[in-house]
Amino acid sequence: MSVLGGMSGPFSRRGHADCERCVRQVEVTMPWPGWGKLRRVWLVLIFFLVASSPLYLADMHGLLPAALMLVAAIGPLNALAGIRPTCLDCGAVIEPPVGSPTG
Ligand SMILES: [Zn+2]
Repeated sequence: MSVLGGMSGPFSRRGHADCERCVRQVEVTMPWPGWGKLRRVWLVLIFFLVASSPLYLADMHGLLPAALMLVAAIGPLNALAGIRPTCLDCGAVIEPPVGSPTG
């Protein structure tokens, strides 16, 4: 067990996969598959936030900071959605990223 043990993010799980560097089946950490889905939901949420801005700008002092916090929260969500399954023995990424995490 390496220092990476289970440190690939919240809701990560253990699984088994073939590591190209170790050339054998190893224990890997799997990210929660819902992060990508949650990120898309978040983008839709931000779209509706921008679309409904005339409504909440009437109470700007209360709702604008809350809206900006919601928009800023896409950053950690992007990072979580970009986590790839990682080998627990050598730390190699098991699956190469398909496209960019922002795509
Ligand atoms: Zn490995």
